Amino acid sequence: MEQHEKMHDLIGVGIGPFNLSLAALLDEHESVDALFFEQNATFDWHPGMLIEGTKMQVPFIADLVTMADPTNPYSFLNYISKNDRMYQFYFLQRLDIPRREYNDYCQWVAAQLDSCRFGKRVVDIRHVQDGEEYFEIVVDDLESGEKTTFKSRNLVMGTGSIPVIPKSFRGLPSEDVFHTADFLSHQDRCRNAGSITVIGSGQSAAETFRELLKEQREYGFRLDWITRSPGFASMEESKLSLEHFSPDYVNYFYQLPQNQKDEIFASQGLYYKGISNHTVNDIYNLLYEYSVGEEEPNVGLQVLSEVKEIQPKQGGGYELTCYHWQKKEEFTHSSDLVIAATGYKPNVPDFVHHLEDFLEWDEHGRYKVTPDYRLKQTKETSNEIYVHSGISHTHGVGSTNLGLSVHRNKVIINHLLGREIYPMKEKTIFQSFTV
Ligand SMILES: Cc1cc2nc3c(=O)[nH]c(=O)nc-3n(C[C@H](O)[C@H](O)[C@H](O)COP(=O)(O)OP(=O)(O)OC[C@H]3O[C@@H](n4cnc5c(N)ncnc54)[C@H](O)[C@@H]3O)c2cc1C
Repeated sequence: MEQHEKMHDLIGVGIGPFNLSLAALLDEHESVDALFFEQNATFDWHPGMLIEGTKMQVPFIADLVTMADPTNPYSFLNYISKNDRMYQFYFLQRLDIPRREYNDYCQWVAAQLDSCRFGKRVVDIRHVQDGEEYFEIVVDDLESGEKTTFKSRNLVMGTGSIPVIPKSFRGLPSEDVFHTADFLSHQDRCRNAGSITVIGSGQSAAETFRELLKEQREYGFRLDWITRSPGFASMEESKLSLEHFSPDYVNYFYQLPQNQKDEIFASQGLYYKGISNHTVNDIYNLLYEYSVGEEEPNVGLQVLSEVKEIQPKQGGGYELTCYHWQKKEEFTHSSDLVIAATGYKPNVPDFVHHLEDFLEWDEHGRYKVTPDYRLKQTKETSNEIYVHSGISHTHGVGSTNLGLSVHRNKVIINHLLGREIYPMKEKTIFQSFTV
């Protein structure tokens, strides 16, 4: 195994939007020697869900840098300008840019940053105390298969989230039963199916259902949408509700007792789990159009029903055992393909658990986090692990929201550099969460 002796100031694990924003902001701080590793060969933001017509749920101002410094060369507007699209963007008159464009913008930034290395998976991390204190990071080059160790005084974890499929749906052929995260790579298969069922009622479920609904009459498949929720609920998108995704709310939430935080977070699903109004409207409009002058559209929307089990049927297709939890009745449903829109969970790589004795954990096995996004350590060291992922239990509902990414990176950079590079405003919104 090759060993790099150079001591870095910061090594980042994962390059999603959160760490990419940090890499972009650090680019102008030449005194910081930072490296970021990403296992994918290129930057690609949820590629299976880059459906044409889908748009960002945050305004473009929440790009990788603007909220810290609108004059930063990695701003979205500079990307538009450098790509000679200023007039088109001006006449577009939209804040909510296409999701495909956000991905293209991030790729444009990533390609300019020397600190970002792709095709490299971090497979282990160890804290070393041998006169000097540092982290040793083992990186697997996915092309050559070679492992290399790097040294860094600090780490930043930006490993994001991974798709979740319920246990009872696992072990079935992945070309027939798959997560929405893989939707686009299965779109042709959907076009050739006799019937498709989407399970779940969040934004990903709705976007997938809408895309299938658009094509349903052309390709002639039966389309069903099943959720255990009482309804296809809309996301809470009023401007005052959106203030929950502000530094003020994060600060308020952070200082609450942990048991109260867990209760509050569990009750805030509609701030991030519901469906955007415009997506519900599109779906309803399509259903309405399809119902004109025709028999019933060959489409079903079923609420209050949990899919308990999926079994292959003799001769092909699958039988879904469902349970209507209000009527307390079981029923079955057949489908050729099943798409699980069953959400994501924080991606805490196994090697974080190799640092078990080094870190503080709560009684639910979750790491403890300081207000300024550092993992709490069992002993005093001069090294820090900053963290973007898996912090909803400490920092609340905005933890995965891209609108807070730059704010978090400002806090991290101020701590890393030991001075206030970015001044922090006490009050950023109209309402008060605390007295
Ligand atoms: C379909 C979809 C749409 C979304 N749209 C929005 C939106 O419009 N607005 C909003 O605010 N939020 C949105 N979100 C929520 C969220 O902000 C995004 O998921 C965002 O991608 C999170 O960024 P991240 O940097 O934390 O992680 P990710 O984007 O998940 O990136 C983490 C990266 O780490 C890499 N990685 C993991 N482990 C390792 C390792 N050991 N070594 C090297 N690399 C590793 C992964 O390959 C991955 O590329 C959306 C989520 C989804 C699923």
